[in-house]
Amino acid sequence: MAASLTALLEAPTLAAEAGGMSIAPFRFDVTPPQGHPLCGGWIKPAEEVDDTLEAIGWVLLGMGKPVVICAVDWTGILNEAHLAWRTNLAEAAGTTPDRVAVQCVHQHDAPFVCLRTEQLLQKLAAGLSNMKVDFFQECLRRGVNAVKAAMIKARPLTHVARAEARIEKVAGNRRLLLGPDGKVKKMRGSSSRDPELVALPEGLIDPMLKSVAFYSGTEKVLCCHYYACHPMSHYAKGRVSSDFPGLARKRLQQEEPGCTHIYFTGAAGNIAAGKYNDGSPEARVQLTQRIYDGLKLAATHLKPQPVSRVSWHTQDILPEVNPAFTHANETALIENPANIPANRIRPAMRVAWIERIEKRQPIVLSALHVNEITLLHLPAESFVEYQLRAQEAQPQRFVATAAYGDGGAWYIPTKEAFPQGGYEVSVANCSATADPLMTQAIRTLLNA
Ligand SMILES: [Zn+2]
Repeated sequence: MAASLTALLEAPTLAAEAGGMSIAPFRFDVTPPQGHPLCGGWIKPAEEVDDTLEAIGWVLLGMGKPVVICAVDWTGILNEAHLAWRTNLAEAAGTTPDRVAVQCVHQHDAPFVCLRTEQLLQKLAAGLSNMKVDFFQECLRRGVNAVKAAMIKARPLTHVARAEARIEKVAGNRRLLLGPDGKVKKMRGSSSRDPELVALPEGLIDPMLKSVAFYSGTEKVLCCHYYACHPMSHYAKGRVSSDFPGLARKRLQQEEPGCTHIYFTGAAGNIAAGKYNDGSPEARVQLTQRIYDGLKLAATHLKPQPVSRVSWHTQDILPEVNPAFTHANETALIENPANIPANRIRPAMRVAWIERIEKRQPIVLSALHVNEITLLHLPAESFVEYQLRAQEAQPQRFVATAAYGDGGAWYIPTKEAFPQGGYEVSVANCSATADPLMTQAIRTLLNA
């Protein structure tokens, strides 16, 4: 299949020549109502709200059509639902969907939405659901209103700064325990009390939290933070929460009300906190503290410099469907009343993906270059190797990666991971051919 369908490249905007740029941060509530499915409908639905979920983003103006970047405290937004988010935010900002990046933080006591999946489930009339469509549409309306209201109050963008800090005792690789056959024997998930798994080293991770701040004169208006780890401490008890990264972000936000703080989860498909998290309420407090400490430490290293060059780039990819999944087989699983809900809803998500690829609706990767800084936007549960490759492709640039964009593909393992099997590979909607497509698209974006 074609590596790259289109490349919408544009010449960099020189800030001075462009007559000034401006930024407009926005936020809106996306907390699901009582009874709403969580994590796609295979864990307990929303019963109580421990803390609210937010969509937080910003519009960048003054470089041709506006660019919109947004982080959402949801598990995932898939296929047409992702396109609907980008289209609505684009229309509100007066731009096009290819200039909008929507990235989930991936908490699990949160909505995980696919419109086509919901259609397939409703057709069954078996009481299964992955989302409430009216709540979804209400969130889009709130987003449109938030973007429009923010743009009226846009502030001149003059300076940018970047910094990083090592996060201690949060991330670990999930796929370290291999059997003699070279296959993943046991996964170290988001929490673990298995001494064998806890004793394993951290393995391949990206330990650095990266922060990129944007200023209007001397005032820090916006700060984006990036760290690659699954964001769950404990979940599945019906208690909606932005979990430890969201709680750390909220604490910092309270201390700095004048600056909008946004947290993005990096390429964390194979990264979770299981080495350092026993799933207890105390562990959530500890993990929150560790992220918060990293956010505070990074902030001490921010050194603003004038914004001189800004550009936006996209790459489309159309990965192949995992050959393990066919429309007919997955439809049979959906229709089998003997299957538990998860084993009917996940096949529905696979059918939605298969149909989406048949329609040739591509996955869009994007990058915003600001001076020597790149904000990179990747899809779905990309493995950490992709963000490490992105940084290696341009070692002199500061590359901050947000993953969990369009979630249609579910996991995007590396091609080396496919023969090792394991959970992520078993539920990856794309085949191993996604790796060269992703890698090439990332390199093109970094070299643009
Ligand atoms: Zn995940």
